[in-house]
Amino acid sequence: MSSNDVKNPSGEKEKKIKQPASQVIKNNFFFMKMMFQASPKFVLFPALDSIRGEISIFVEHVFLIGFVLEAAEFNYSFRRVAFMILLIAGLITVGMIFTVLAGDYMQEKERPKVREKIKLRLYEKARSVDLSCYDDPEFYNSQVLAISEVDKRIDSTMDFIKSVLSGLTVVTLTGSYFLIKDRFSILFVLTSFILSYICSQIYNKLSFRIRMLRYPPERKREYVKRVFYLKDYAKEIRLDPEVTDVLEERFANANEEVYEAEKSLAKKKFGVAFLKNYLFGDFIGDTLYVSYLMYRYIIMHAISLSSTVMLAHRFGDLKRNLRVFTETYPKACETSLYIQKIRDFLAYEPKVISEGDVKPSSEAKALSLEGVGFSYKKDLPEVLSDINLQVNPGEKIALVGYNGAGKTTLVKLLMRLYDTTSGTILADGVDVKKYDLESYRDSIGTVFQDFEIFAGTVKENVILDVAEHADEARVAQALLDSGLSRRVDALSMKLDTPLTHEFSEKGVDLSGGEQQKLAVSRVFYQNASLMILDEPSSALDPIAEYQLNHAMLQATKDKTVIFISHRLSTTRLADRIFMLEEGRIVEEGTHESLLLRGGKYAEMWKAQAGAYIEV
Ligand code: ADP
Repeated sequence: MSSNDVKNPSGEKEKKIKQPASQVIKNNFFFMKMMFQASPKFVLFPALDSIRGEISIFVEHVFLIGFVLEAAEFNYSFRRVAFMILLIAGLITVGMIFTVLAGDYMQEKERPKVREKIKLRLYEKARSVDLSCYDDPEFYNSQVLAISEVDKRIDSTMDFIKSVLSGLTVVTLTGSYFLIKDRFSILFVLTSFILSYICSQIYNKLSFRIRMLRYPPERKREYVKRVFYLKDYAKEIRLDPEVTDVLEERFANANEEVYEAEKSLAKKKFGVAFLKNYLFGDFIGDTLYVSYLMYRYIIMHAISLSSTVMLAHRFGDLKRNLRVFTETYPKACETSLYIQKIRDFLAYEPKVISEGDVKPSSEAKALSLEGVGFSYKKDLPEVLSDINLQVNPGEKIALVGYNGAGKTTLVKLLMRLYDTTSGTILADGVDVKKYDLESYRDSIGTVFQDFEIFAGTVKENVILDVAEHADEARVAQALLDSGLSRRVDALSMKLDTPLTHEFSEKGVDLSGGEQQKLAVSRVFYQNASLMILDEPSSALDPIAEYQLNHAMLQATKDKTVIFISHRLSTTRLADRIFMLEEGRIVEEGTHESLLLRGGKYAEMWKAQAGAYIEV
């Protein structure tokens, strides 16, 4: 374990990450600015209210009580006292109304806006980062999880702003009061605060050491507990009860170890707690300071009785609020680490970008892959090597091969979800990088094996857009072609039926096969010049598969189509078949020619023929 690593009680390594102070400050301001830009009211009003709250407390607890004591000490007129009390009561009431309207209400009203604006900015970015980022677990863990914490961080940043401002207000007001009334008093407050703070730090370190010592025996105790309670062990401990004797002995030993751990540092802990709470806290605060005040009042006549009472009364409050200077920075450091992730995420520059602005034609695409190689990461072996293939406009191409051969990866390259590591992909004779990326992707209709059904209506799921943009006739045709229209017609709200239960109790869950048909409808609706269907019929029964294949060929007559399938009954319909193995094209030809050749494809066909030969 390096000196920078600390094992926490749950056994995970926590890296102590050092950040320069400038970065901590910049990051915190960055997030505050983001919140402020989303809603200035959300930040300003509660911030002002926290200052107002402390001023109000000061006026009430110091000024008003001090005034009342002075009035009693120096015999002020009743009218004067009553006027002052009413005036302050009025101010406090106005302040409370401000809290309700400007602080609490404004915060509740504006919070959703802030969350929405910040999240939309992050979602927008998430859409544009390269797919390869999701292959990197570090990126996934830090950036993507950082996004999921936005709500919590907005609230904690606001709490942080409020607590810093409250603390600073108390320290400024009460500190000034101490300086005005009796300068020397500040030394008592500071001495008590600094010594108590040092003791707290030592106390925390001792507690941490005890936690570390307790961790191994506590794991043993947890294990024994699980064995006695969990269902998994229930049979064994009944059939072999002797095993529990061993466990009981281990449990007793573990308890002894826990006790020893506590005992080893108990005296030190007690000593430090005594110093912190009694000697540097109560003794300096109550005994020494009050004695000093009495000396100033009785012997020196340097302060009034009312000031003596107020100073003694506010001592603890001022000391408590000085904590703002010791707690602010560690909290800011913690938040800074989080914000750095958000900043890195927002600053990420996608690598797959439009290198030109060529617009794709709407005619069936011709494709040409020249010496294409690809690996997911620099240090990983290639998953595609030296791929050369030509696809003519309107051709129906099948990619076949066993799992892991590289078929889906090839499709991802065609879609420009990744860029090739070597070689070039040309669409209609133009390097795919030269196209305007968004238009290029729009010109290809794709169904991946791991497509998703979104929580929206049937119609929205087909058009993948807001319902108002739908061409109803085309939606109906797409569903008919994919074989889903009978099922949709039977639904009470037809095309407007919500899918999944995410947003609607009345949502409908489609079966795996129906979902696949729905995904295929999307491609039919899109009417793109190139269609790529990755295992479009894997969840269908043979009859439905046959029907879908037929409809697919009908619907895509004048399109270029690439489909991937394990099911060779589908691929036999293709004009040409490419067989992939370990990232290379090992065979190419029509179904018949490949069978005649008696190679890998023929072998695969033979293995599957039993199941499909009748179809
Ligand atoms: P197929 O579609 O033929 O089953 P894939 O293209 O999905 O094959 O996968 C080809 C190879 O690439 C496999 O070895 C797979 O484990 C690997 N692979 C796929 N996706 C990733 C990824 N995101 N990161 C690293 N390796 C991957």
